Amino acid sequence: MPSSVEKLQKFLKLEAERGYDNRAVVGGLDRIIPNWQNEARSENIGEEIVKQIVTRLSDYRYMQMDERVIVLKEMMELLQSVETTKQKTIPQTSKKQPKPEINQPINESFSPRLPKIVSKQQSTNVYQASPSSSAIKIALNTPLTVLHGVGPRTAENMQLLGLETLNDLLYYFPRRYDDYSLLKSINRIRFGDELTVIATIRNIQNRKVKNGKLDLTEAIVSDDTGFLRITWYNHPWYTNKFTPNSQVVLSGKIDMYLGRLVMNNPEIEMLEQEHLHTNRIVPVYPLIAQLNQYTLRRSMYQAVTFITPQIEDILPESIKQSADLLDLSTALLQIHFPDSQEQLHNARERLAFDEIFLLQLGLLKQKYNWQSTSARIYEIEENKLEERISNLPYQLTNAQRSALQDIRKDLESGKPMNRLLQGDVGSGKTIVAALAVSIISQYNVQSAIMAPTSILAEQHYRNLLNLLANPDQPNIVFKPEEVCLLIGNTAETEKETIRKGLKDGKIKLVIGTHALLEDPVTFNDLQLIIVDEQHRFGVAQRSTLREKGEYPHLLVMTATPIPRSMALTVYGDLDLSVIDEMPPGRQPVVTRLLHPIERERAYNLIRTQVEQDHQVFIIYPLVEKGDIENRDENQAAVEEYKRLQETVFPQYQLGLLHGRMKSEEKDLVMSSFRDRKIHILVSTSVIEVGIDIPNATIMLVEGANRFGLAQLHQFRGRIGRGLDQAYCLLIPESEDAVENQRLQALVETDDGFSLAERDLEQRGPGEFLGTRQSGFSELKIANITDYRLIEKARKHAQELFLSDPNLSKPEHQALVKAMDNFWTGGKGDVS
Ligand code: ADP
Ligand code: MG
Repeated sequence: MPSSVEKLQKFLKLEAERGYDNRAVVGGLDRIIPNWQNEARSENIGEEIVKQIVTRLSDYRYMQMDERVIVLKEMMELLQSVETTKQKTIPQTSKKQPKPEINQPINESFSPRLPKIVSKQQSTNVYQASPSSSAIKIALNTPLTVLHGVGPRTAENMQLLGLETLNDLLYYFPRRYDDYSLLKSINRIRFGDELTVIATIRNIQNRKVKNGKLDLTEAIVSDDTGFLRITWYNHPWYTNKFTPNSQVVLSGKIDMYLGRLVMNNPEIEMLEQEHLHTNRIVPVYPLIAQLNQYTLRRSMYQAVTFITPQIEDILPESIKQSADLLDLSTALLQIHFPDSQEQLHNARERLAFDEIFLLQLGLLKQKYNWQSTSARIYEIEENKLEERISNLPYQLTNAQRSALQDIRKDLESGKPMNRLLQGDVGSGKTIVAALAVSIISQYNVQSAIMAPTSILAEQHYRNLLNLLANPDQPNIVFKPEEVCLLIGNTAETEKETIRKGLKDGKIKLVIGTHALLEDPVTFNDLQLIIVDEQHRFGVAQRSTLREKGEYPHLLVMTATPIPRSMALTVYGDLDLSVIDEMPPGRQPVVTRLLHPIERERAYNLIRTQVEQDHQVFIIYPLVEKGDIENRDENQAAVEEYKRLQETVFPQYQLGLLHGRMKSEEKDLVMSSFRDRKIHILVSTSVIEVGIDIPNATIMLVEGANRFGLAQLHQFRGRIGRGLDQAYCLLIPESEDAVENQRLQALVETDDGFSLAERDLEQRGPGEFLGTRQSGFSELKIANITDYRLIEKARKHAQELFLSDPNLSKPEHQALVKAMDNFWTGGKGDVS
């Protein structure tokens, strides 16, 4: 036996006996690498094996106990395989098999799981094992413990990441990749670069700054070409983990400090030799403290090598071909361990396609289910509707007319309406809704309008009462007592009366909050449901309301200007009408971007406006909790409210509104503001939803840079609803040129859709998606702004749906399972 093997076996055995404390060799197991490597090579031990041993030895010091146990065992097995190879090549005199050198009482739970999968493959090492063509069928919902090296404890840690089954693991995508071919050496980096460098730590130490409140860790690192200074805040343990001479990978942005290039708060990881040598592109996964890259990557490698070749593709061959997509198994392999940037790109394309495809297919199915029921028909004669329209105090815009036509067609179709009415703030959705109610009203059935807050419900109630039940109005379709308001603080006796009226059908139109959803509310015959500002309501709440009627017609209204690509993707179950035109004669709001030092000018304008009996909003951003410890996120508004009331506007009445207040408190403040008892309302973003205060002429937004453009546009929509000139003043926190450039868009346009598109490009879909609680799991990889891909996936989803709406063909069975997984996480039916 080669002496290098024997030597290492001895050390490893000793290490195991000592309890894996990395002290079997003074200074750590990795200290023997240089000598051992030379010796092993001179003894002609295969280079592959040497490399693998070296990798494990050099990683050993950074591993946790359970990993050390596994890795040590793997090294033992590797060494043993050297021996076995020898025995094969040299004719044996004895038939006796060599005894395993190691028979440590290794904790049972960490014994290798490998045989369960790979016993047929004659491999003792996961890194060498190649996919076998022999069909080993493994269900994707198999627990991860099936993998070699995943014992109960690692499994538990993986569970913290939501990884329980092989499927979870395979779809746990890298956060980024280190492409070692694109690394920069230190002498080539430039200010502002975002890059990865590989370097050796020369010096690393902690010190306290800010009166001892913060830990600052400073390191000097170097490569062959130069030195770089690195700093971290609040990572004092780095000095233990990344000691001098460790080779590390640093990723981050290059800054300048006192004329020198520095890297602040970069991500840091130990350099892994193995990947550096064998893979050009290495995945880096999002992790938690209990799990390291090494463990996860190793399990992943095993999973993609053994499992993915056996995976059934969810897409039918025909779609894969015409859409020019990779196989699922290739895509999964390449997304985790890409051979090239090109393959990585193709893998992403395939997996993103799957997501959009499954999303679209599910939405189509929902729509189909809904449309295959029938609904009662509600018609109105053309001239009767025209007469009502001509009785309005203004002319409808073309966009309002065409939305109304859409709704009219739905109501006549015999299928339940399922429509999203989208229109910028102030575009006049309410009148369209009111006209829809008036069509239904002739049939002696009931309508309900649901709003997200009491204030909004009250506002609608007053509007609709005036439009549809005011005896002085020409368009009256209800008696006043046939219209009622049901909100949380409606008196109990009144609620009782309303419930009775709804049950026996005397009440024809009810307007309310989610109080409408409460159990005791039952309807005699609910036929039209209108949900306003729908993003505050979940799908579940919508369906509860639906169940209160018999196949009622549903209209949801939103002022969130969702870009078309997103609307198609996310609201594919609803038909879409857009009011993309403002009523004529509106004075546009004057929008100004002010420097922080110009705040006093803003205050002067406020004083002038309040003196003219106008009202003012001042908005503060929520401050993130972590900013300063235990700080309430509403603090900025609370503190500024005090300051403004006491020192800036002592002569006026100020009000305060924030998310921590109870809804009755909020309602009280809002109604005082509406009734002009408050001049200036200081608020966090809770103000956003469609409240109508025509007398308000100034919207001042502090910390404007913290908001998305679409949201700022919503704020702006709160003003300029009356006849007087209104002003929107934006004050960012700093003079950051890039940020202010972004905000400049608001000065330039008042088109909510174009602002939303820009937001989507700049800030991603979170702002829109976060508001829809929808039952489908998040899109992990698809980019919702990728129109091309969305269109492609939609086209294929539609074709497939037309050819097999129930997905009953045999070639679609894998797809059925995938749908179930995507929509319900495998926990139920797609509904
Ligand atoms: P939103 O779409 O934000 O809900 P509203 O329905 O509250 O908008 O309408 C905003 C204001 O515009 C209301 O005061 C309404 O009376 C008025 N309005 C609606 N349609 C028109 C129109 N075609 N011409 C003039 N004013 C209109
Ligand atoms: Mg509205």
